[in-house]
Amino acid sequence: MIKTGVLAVQGAFARHASALEACGADVRIVKYREDLEDLDALILPGGESTTMTRLFGFRIDYEDLYRFAQSRPVFGTCAGLILLGHGAHDPRVRQFSLLDADITRNAYGSQKESFVEDISLSFDPDTPFHAVFIRAPRIDRPGAELRILASSGGHPVLVESQLYLGATFHPELTEDRRIHRYFIQKIKEIKNGKKQSA
Ligand code: GLN
Repeated sequence: MIKTGVLAVQGAFARHASALEACGADVRIVKYREDLEDLDALILPGGESTTMTRLFGFRIDYEDLYRFAQSRPVFGTCAGLILLGHGAHDPRVRQFSLLDADITRNAYGSQKESFVEDISLSFDPDTPFHAVFIRAPRIDRPGAELRILASSGGHPVLVESQLYLGATFHPELTEDRRIHRYFIQKIKEIKNGKKQSA
């Protein structure tokens, strides 16, 4: 069975855990560095990337997460995507720069400008996915090797590299489990050695 962690430093981790469980994954809430042991993969949830950065160093360090994420699949959603990427140009946010994408924080405005939009997933294009954008970041410059799995308004909103998956929205907030299932499939393929580590 695939063992997936959900980082619970701050933010929207509980719904990710239930989404993964609904897809048949074994889930562990990650609060301490020991919780990372023997996990196959990790979700960095949405929330607030400045707060998460501030809280690194209490129960879990930036370096613990960085070491883990260097060799295992990680799915970053919203604030989690900000941490996984680079280019936020905000000294309050310490990014991992593991997903090659320039990310602009709060690119659509404040909480009031949050919105829901139907997007089309490249791996299942015929059924729209109701994507919930909450103070969402924007992917401005995706690296050349990234695969774009969905876009909105001319910007990628769901991207992947060999090891990582990133969404600018909150896929855990709907009952549609296609994106979590996609991540689990990716973890299995990497675990079985079908994909090389990035
Ligand atoms: N605006 C938040 C940040 O900069 C992200 C919002 C979210 O995760 N929903 O971290």
